[in-house]
Amino acid sequence: MADRPVWTEAEEGLFEKYYQLLLEWNERVNLTAIVERQEVYVKHFYDSLLIRDLPEWRAAVARQGRVADVGTGAGFPGIPLAIAFPGARFVLMDSLQKRLRFLQAVVDTLRLANVELVHGRAEDLAHQPAFRHQFDVVLARAVAKLPTLVELLAGFVKPGQFAFAYKGPEVEAEIAGAWRALAAMRMKLVRVDALELPKGMGSRRVVVLRQLAPVSNEYPRRAGLPQRQPL
Ligand code: SAM
Repeated sequence: MADRPVWTEAEEGLFEKYYQLLLEWNERVNLTAIVERQEVYVKHFYDSLLIRDLPEWRAAVARQGRVADVGTGAGFPGIPLAIAFPGARFVLMDSLQKRLRFLQAVVDTLRLANVELVHGRAEDLAHQPAFRHQFDVVLARAVAKLPTLVELLAGFVKPGQFAFAYKGPEVEAEIAGAWRALAAMRMKLVRVDALELPKGMGSRRVVVLRQLAPVSNEYPRRAGLPQRQPL
């Protein structure tokens, strides 16, 4: 990880507000099991920003690209990235309405002009023309195992562009089971990057996938099938 600070002083204020909102809303809405300050900062905020120096990310941000965060939950990794990269445009998607209500409060309080919130399932949203193959980068953290995940993500990625799956160190087994799904989704595994959280708080993997060509219109299959019957 580069030796410059992860976020600026101005951004620090936004992260602090986000942390306060998380704690406040977490009393009513199930958002995060982690609430201790340092843990939230490292395991949610810093973790979300782990991709910030990857060349594919830098290139997408440099051209003010569109980014989708599929299954964003309480906003990870989308909100920390939207704070740190105000020039990129983010669409955060989730199927749970109550989490989107929390995110709307975050977007309003932090005045994040570069974030759009969308309620729905990836299996449906990926077929809508407004989202089909429209994104320079598609992100997902803790949403599904890789064979299922690639089916959920591929329909969003512009051909030639990238999806990043945030994973733990055990990702190799998932990759071993994902080759058929990757081929069907016209995706190529580019790299698996090993990245470390600070203070010895964990080791992470980011799976970098490239969308080689548009996906057949039959994918993703109808809601629930990618999970129940992975390719
Ligand atoms: N990405 C966040 C994180 O890392 O903290 C949330 C992870 S949470 C375990 C998974 C989230 O994905 C939930 O908020 C769930 O509603 C959402 N989700 C799961 N399957 C989905 C689907 N098919 N379409 C849209 N959202 C989905």
